Amino acid sequence: MMNATTESPACQLSADGSQQVNVPITVARGDGIGPEIMEATLKVLKAAGARIAIEEIEIGEKVYGRGHLSGIEESSWESLRRTKVFLKAPITTPQGGGVKSLNVTTRKTLGLYANVRPCVSYSPFVATKHPTMDLVIIRENEEDLYAGIEHRQTDEVYQCLKLISRPGTEKIVRYAFEYARLHNRKKVTCFAKDNIMKLTDGLFHKVFDEVAAEYPELENEFWIIDIGAAKMADTPEAFDVIVMANLYGDILSDVAAQIAGSVGIAGSANIGEHCAMFEAIHGSAPRRAGQNVANPSGLMLGAVQMLVHINQPDVATLFHNAWLKTMEDGIHTYDIYKEGVSKQKVGTQEFAQAVIDRIGQKPSTLKAVSYQANVVEAGEPKKTYTPTVPANKQTVGVDVFLHVKTPTDVEALAVKLQAAQLPNLPLKLISNRGQKVWPNGFAETFHTDHWRCRYENKEGQSISHKDIVTLLANVDAQGLDFIKTENLCTFDGEIGWTAAQGS
Ligand code: NAD
Repeated sequence: MMNATTESPACQLSADGSQQVNVPITVARGDGIGPEIMEATLKVLKAAGARIAIEEIEIGEKVYGRGHLSGIEESSWESLRRTKVFLKAPITTPQGGGVKSLNVTTRKTLGLYANVRPCVSYSPFVATKHPTMDLVIIRENEEDLYAGIEHRQTDEVYQCLKLISRPGTEKIVRYAFEYARLHNRKKVTCFAKDNIMKLTDGLFHKVFDEVAAEYPELENEFWIIDIGAAKMADTPEAFDVIVMANLYGDILSDVAAQIAGSVGIAGSANIGEHCAMFEAIHGSAPRRAGQNVANPSGLMLGAVQMLVHINQPDVATLFHNAWLKTMEDGIHTYDIYKEGVSKQKVGTQEFAQAVIDRIGQKPSTLKAVSYQANVVEAGEPKKTYTPTVPANKQTVGVDVFLHVKTPTDVEALAVKLQAAQLPNLPLKLISNRGQKVWPNGFAETFHTDHWRCRYENKEGQSISHKDIVTLLANVDAQGLDFIKTENLCTFDGEIGWTAAQGS
């Protein structure tokens, strides 16, 4: 369902008196607190003189309710593809029922690969333990565990595929360095867990090091994410720009926003090569809906990022400085209101009015902003990734995954699996949840009903697809329930799989 609002004329006057064409943007009011914080944000956009022509679309709960599994209708995609700019309030994702997250769908469908989340403290006006914190999390937005490829494989085991691609990683890491350069940041940090996920997070780390070498003027560093996250929560001022994969960035940007003052005060830009989407980092907070209490600041700061993106730095500057002055004047919603620090506790719409009343003013203690014209957001027009040169790929084995109920006699299982093997594809090992249980397993190791059986050519010689098909027919003839296979391949001689734990 799409409505073009009648409030937005095609043209209007800018601050210098020249007539300017209004930029079409798509707006969605969302669910829960979404409509209230969007109303507040649109009021300030209008008062600040944003030169925009709004097309409204409906997304979220009501659209899911009409049977659209991604919470968005075809006509809304048409609006998004036409305007290429989306100001979006949070939505509620229904549980179960085969529905897909609209947020993930929108980001991936429109190729919005970079999620930019500034997390800044506004001390002494907003209470925080980290008064000088000013960091930006650049979150990869399209892959990782958010590929949404999940399967129940056995009675006991469920699987979610973590996909990390070289182009996807290079795009986000390059974006982070370009962003740092463009915004006069000094350092880019990478968080990953490559000590455990050696291939996926290992690729993320490797590509980070490769791209970092192209930006010698910027400091770079790498942290294993567990200790990096602890350091960020304890000493966020030690960080500047942090780049990370999707799930890590999703979690840690909420942490960073919360320790800066509130999850309610961080905005976010989702940038792609063709389109961009702007939103708050928080969700629809259904428990707070309809009470006029939610903090609209996250969406307001997302709207400021949008104004910069559509090259209206004058309006972005007016809006942002008025918001900073409101913070400084202690006019706060419940989530950041603190006795002795804040001056007045206000609701969502009163907060918006306070920002409108301060348009044209600047903060005196907090640093005022001054956006420049034609700041091209990093990642848009430049080189984003290097096309991959195909390697010499050899298939030298296969992991066959089985569903075999427990308790199982592992030696008896191995006998059946060996009966199925081919001369050039002998059984090498059996593992359970990645831990080797044959040969020489430990009686203490816990077993689920999910078994990985590795067949590998001893000399590293190539095997054929036909060999794999024959092997599977043999496994089937042994009465074993195979649930999937993964080929073991080398790429230019480099092994493309990990060893089993304990092997
Ligand atoms: P949430 O961010 O909606 O709310 C968590 C808590 O944070 C709230 O109870 C509230 O105390 C506080 N909070 C959040 N935003 C606030 C604001 N603007 N002002 C004041 N306090 C605020 O997280 P949740 O409860 O885990 O998720 C609720 C729903 O939102 C879920 O359906 C989830 O899928 C969805 N969600 C949507 C988006 C999005 O649309 N971009 C993002 C995250 C979660």
